[in-house]
Amino acid sequence: MLSTTAVPGISDLPPMQSDSLLALIALADADPRPEKIDVGVGVYRDGQGRTPILRAVKEAERRLWEQQETKSYLGSVGDKRFAELLRPILLGDHAGDERIAGVQTPGGCGALFLGFKLVRSANPDARLFVGTPTWPNHVPLARGAGLELVEYPYYDREAGEIRFDEMLASLGEARRGDVVLLHGCCHNPTGADLTDAQWDEVTRLVAERGLLPFIDIAYQGLGRGLDEDARGLRGMLAACDEVLIAQSCDKNFGVYRDRVGAFYLKAKRREASATAMAHVLQLAREAWSMPPDHGAAAVRIVLEDEGLRADWLAELDSMRERIARVREQLAAADERLAFIADQYGMFSMLPLSRDQVLHLRERHAVYMADSGRINVLGMADEAVDRFVAAVVETLNDPATHG
Ligand code: PLP
Repeated sequence: MLSTTAVPGISDLPPMQSDSLLALIALADADPRPEKIDVGVGVYRDGQGRTPILRAVKEAERRLWEQQETKSYLGSVGDKRFAELLRPILLGDHAGDERIAGVQTPGGCGALFLGFKLVRSANPDARLFVGTPTWPNHVPLARGAGLELVEYPYYDREAGEIRFDEMLASLGEARRGDVVLLHGCCHNPTGADLTDAQWDEVTRLVAERGLLPFIDIAYQGLGRGLDEDARGLRGMLAACDEVLIAQSCDKNFGVYRDRVGAFYLKAKRREASATAMAHVLQLAREAWSMPPDHGAAAVRIVLEDEGLRADWLAELDSMRERIARVREQLAAADERLAFIADQYGMFSMLPLSRDQVLHLRERHAVYMADSGRINVLGMADEAVDRFVAAVVETLNDPATHG
């Protein structure tokens, strides 16, 4: 006889807490006020508030459409040429190092996933040191891979600066083999990047203590420049025998939804690197079998063609210049926002309480994450003055100081 005992099924799952940034987008979308400003979004916007497809990418897609003759499988490595063409851009002088192997992934997230899983396979006792705050997705990705997380202090929101001494003290507690997650450039959510001298100090500590650096670089070229933004990462490659890198092209090529990224690892020897990469490919097979082709193929076409590459570099320059310009504009508006000019990339964290964030939402139709994180490019040019006025009014209003 069949048992009638209730067995939990997929219909009995508990509700999930909604993702706060997605919930924020829904709230902003539902706001009927025409002057609303949404600085919660995580994508680049131009002066008109649009996220356009880059000219070079559009042209590459046209060529792909005309010339691609098959959509047959590419296998777990994806587009090999794509990962090769990225090497000099990312690795600089280390591009020829045969101990470094790379593979195409579905975005930077796919690369982070592979790296965390690989660490777990190689050393189940390794803990992951993550800065506070960090990009919120780091936490579920690392926990999902089964890693134990240890937080290190990174940023003082009130002072608008990096808590460098505390960061070093915390990393000084890490055990040999523990992993240190660092943002290569354009720190998300704070915009506060380590200076070159701070990178050198962290690199020394990581190398001396036998820690494994994992560099997440999702905004190369949007901070100070392609080479400058990779300086910290390349310093780690020079100093350490083992390094992990999660790279994303989704921002610097503007191909967000096409999911374009790569994972690189450096091992002690070339054969060890090949073996580790075989493990990575097995992990990829278990997760997504093979990465999506379209975006990586478009990036490959851009990088292979001298004219398209030059056009991409010019567009990247203009994105970076616009970011710096808007940062200057925000910083000049009020001395309490001056720190924004010294930061890089799309994000900054304003020294606002949760009540002040809510006040901005209700009174001024300005939408930002509860943490005070803003995308400095979330608004069109015409909205910048209004945004600043709303933030300054909120900072000045004693009723919002709760
Ligand atoms: N790492 C950081 C710090 C990010 O901000 C992002 C995206 O917002 C990513 C990685 C992953 O990017 P994607 O998976 O969209 O390529």
